[in-house]
Amino acid sequence: MERTLLMIKPDATARNVIGRIISMLEENGFKVVAIKSKHFSREEAERFYEVHRDKPFFDDLVNYITSGMVVGIMVERENAVKALRELVGATNPKEARPGTIRAVFGESIERNAVHASDSYENAQRELSFFF
Ligand code: ATP
Ligand code: MG
Repeated sequence: MERTLLMIKPDATARNVIGRIISMLEENGFKVVAIKSKHFSREEAERFYEVHRDKPFFDDLVNYITSGMVVGIMVERENAVKALRELVGATNPKEARPGTIRAVFGESIERNAVHASDSYENAQRELSFFF
């Protein structure tokens, strides 16, 4: 069974919707294997998002992700990486399919409630920040 990471970002933890997001995971066939809250240091945030280092939004993204608590959730399901990306929806909540986590909880293209690993290799790398 494949495992991947869902990370609930600071905008969503601040709005007290952690439980509702976990319910959406469970309702969509994901088994929650482990959960951990943490506060990213700048160094950790820069490493977590290193593929975006050259993007114009990188500094804002690091400021945002270090601005509050995040929650890392290890989930398990068949085809977990692909299935979770589908449940999360498009980066911009305005473009996310109705019923996806970002359509329901995202505020903007930056403050979009959750992160999901985009490949099996990145899932291993990103899970290691939490577990
Ligand atoms: P994630 O990696 O968080 O699951 P994603 O893969 O849909 O999201 P990426 O392109 O990897 O999107 O961007 C990483 C994160 O950077 C986004 O989730 C969002 O918070 C932020 N971001 C992406 N594009 C922009 C943008 N144009 N302006 C501001 N922030 C952005
Ligand atoms: Mg991404």
